[in-house]
Amino acid sequence: MAWRSSGTTNEGLIANLARNGLIESARVKEAMMKVDRAHYAPTHAYEDSPQPIGHRATISAPHMHASACESLLSHLQPGARVLDIGSGSGYLTAVLANLVGPSGTVIGIDHIQPLVDMAVGNMVKSEAGRAMLNSGQVKFVKGDGRKGWAEEAPYDAIHVGAAAAEHHKELSEQLKAPGRMFIPVEEGHMQHVYVVNKKEDGTIEKKKLYGVQYVPLTDVPSE
Ligand code: SAH
Repeated sequence: MAWRSSGTTNEGLIANLARNGLIESARVKEAMMKVDRAHYAPTHAYEDSPQPIGHRATISAPHMHASACESLLSHLQPGARVLDIGSGSGYLTAVLANLVGPSGTVIGIDHIQPLVDMAVGNMVKSEAGRAMLNSGQVKFVKGDGRKGWAEEAPYDAIHVGAAAAEHHKELSEQLKAPGRMFIPVEEGHMQHVYVVNKKEDGTIEKKKLYGVQYVPLTDVPSE
């Protein structure tokens, strides 16, 4: 199903994802149309598959980026504050920024400095990306995403782009009430995406979605 969505242009890829039901909402479609994946994926940019970006990281497949945005969408209103953990290429960070608009803020965090630099380098390839960085709408920081980014918490939405060994307490603590997190979690040899909802009264509800294969959310790999 997923592979059928590949295109030869950014518009073609996004249109195919929408046609195959992997993008459901007009808002997600528009936000993904505005970011040229070729600025973030070094090869096969318009294929619906993950691609290596160096440092044992990958840019996730477009249908996974779409699914993450759809899952978090009700918490990605204009003006929202978002944390993108394991920001890697910076692609999803840019899409999330389109969803929350100029009055919103998205912080991308990665633990590998060259990837933090790569994300900035990718964003400055477009005028829209440069404007987002200059205004502070998007910011990339280096840090251990397992601890979140307490300095600018709480967040309306947290996206985790790598598989966590557990449901890290610090992350749900940094959600607003209400707030929502998309997080792949390792379970034995499997990984499953969870949507974690923090309700208005502060209680936490976890919903298990589907099986995935993500890069682990871990210590910095030693070369
Ligand atoms: N959303 C990114 C996914 C990149 S792959 C994209 O689509 O481009 C997962 C990323 O998680 C890698 O960049 C990796 O460096 C990062 N990562 C892994 N463990 C981490 C940790 N403990 N803290 C922060 N980032 C981490």
